[in-house]
Amino acid sequence: MSTECWSEDFIQLNGKHITLTTDIDDLANNADLIAAFDAAVGQWESFWQLPSGSLQDFKVDACVMADKQRFQLDGRIPLSVPDFPFGFALQDRVWVVAQKSQYYTRHLLLHEGVHSLAYHQFGGTGPSWFMEGTAEMLAVHRHFGSDTKINQLPKDRASVPYWGRFKVMDQSRDANTIPSLGSVLGYPRDLQSDVESYGWSWAATMLLYQYPDTRDAFFASAKTPAPNDAVFNNDLKRRLQNTWPVVTARWRLMCHDIDYGFDWSREQVSLSMNDQVWDGKPLKLDIKANQGWQSIGVRLSPGMKLSVTPAGNCTLADQPKPWLSYPSGITLRYHRGRPLGQLLACLLPDTPDQDQATKTNLRPLQVAAITRPSQIPIKENCWLLFRINDVTGELSDNQGGYQLTIDSASK
Ligand SMILES: [Zn+2]
Repeated sequence: MSTECWSEDFIQLNGKHITLTTDIDDLANNADLIAAFDAAVGQWESFWQLPSGSLQDFKVDACVMADKQRFQLDGRIPLSVPDFPFGFALQDRVWVVAQKSQYYTRHLLLHEGVHSLAYHQFGGTGPSWFMEGTAEMLAVHRHFGSDTKINQLPKDRASVPYWGRFKVMDQSRDANTIPSLGSVLGYPRDLQSDVESYGWSWAATMLLYQYPDTRDAFFASAKTPAPNDAVFNNDLKRRLQNTWPVVTARWRLMCHDIDYGFDWSREQVSLSMNDQVWDGKPLKLDIKANQGWQSIGVRLSPGMKLSVTPAGNCTLADQPKPWLSYPSGITLRYHRGRPLGQLLACLLPDTPDQDQATKTNLRPLQVAAITRPSQIPIKENCWLLFRINDVTGELSDNQGGYQLTIDSASK
């Protein structure tokens, strides 16, 4: 970082990839922003799989503003820039309104920087869901200054003060207004800084990035300029071809569970359109307590009726002593209204009917407790999945699981 200087009442600081102009006289926080931005650029380069050195000349002119009006009066925000409550990016210029937490100010600076990078490297950002989703994904971070690590799903609320995405996503889940993937892809150009739309856009880009079988399509879409949003979305679906029904099914599951601590390494679901339709022969399965939703591996058709018999036990924590649970769960503690350790079943449609429309909410996931031998009638083409109920982000200390025997009840 170069030496600090005052310019017409503003402080200016230089990093490798950023010139920071600010009215905030806080040496430590300003140094943090510069170091965090410079640290992020190298990580963005490798995230986007760019040849080393591609971002050598990438540098943004950033204003971080406690008093936005001062910057306007000083002519530092062009009149062509629309009014914005949080931040804005225009080619290599970005503006960020200082927030109540240093985390959130840093986050917004990185977020706008990702937009700048998209203009710089790819010649465009894609539709609003992709533009805001990737910017959120590559802005959400842990640590600060030169230790900043991007693309980190927050472990808890305290680590990302005022960011607030999960709070509104949770409210939407409670109100059964989670958007279908189709409606996220159809978001208007101007999201009007709506925090919830940013949250679901982030979730959609994470979903495509996190699964190996959709990641190439995600990168190809980012790097291929499209003349308009419809072409971008159609190209993405074409790249994913037969996987699209699986993507929408994964979307339903992810939206049901995503929250602080959501662990992608445990929450990836094994679903394929190549899964055979069940032949009615008995199945024996282990449902692991340290994993998210687990498919029985076959698809089911209307008219089938399954008998499911659970057995076994698992432990859900080991402090202060192991919490032993059976399929009915432990009523000492609840998650989403159900006892921890309870065996849950979910029927997941394998046809993305609702997602064809662009303005619909997701049908709530059908989840039922299986605490004793039970029968499950099948009314539509679907997968059947199980998981052991636990708080999101607390799967890693679980051990063991339940054994399931599945047989046809219509014999
Ligand atoms: Zn943005």
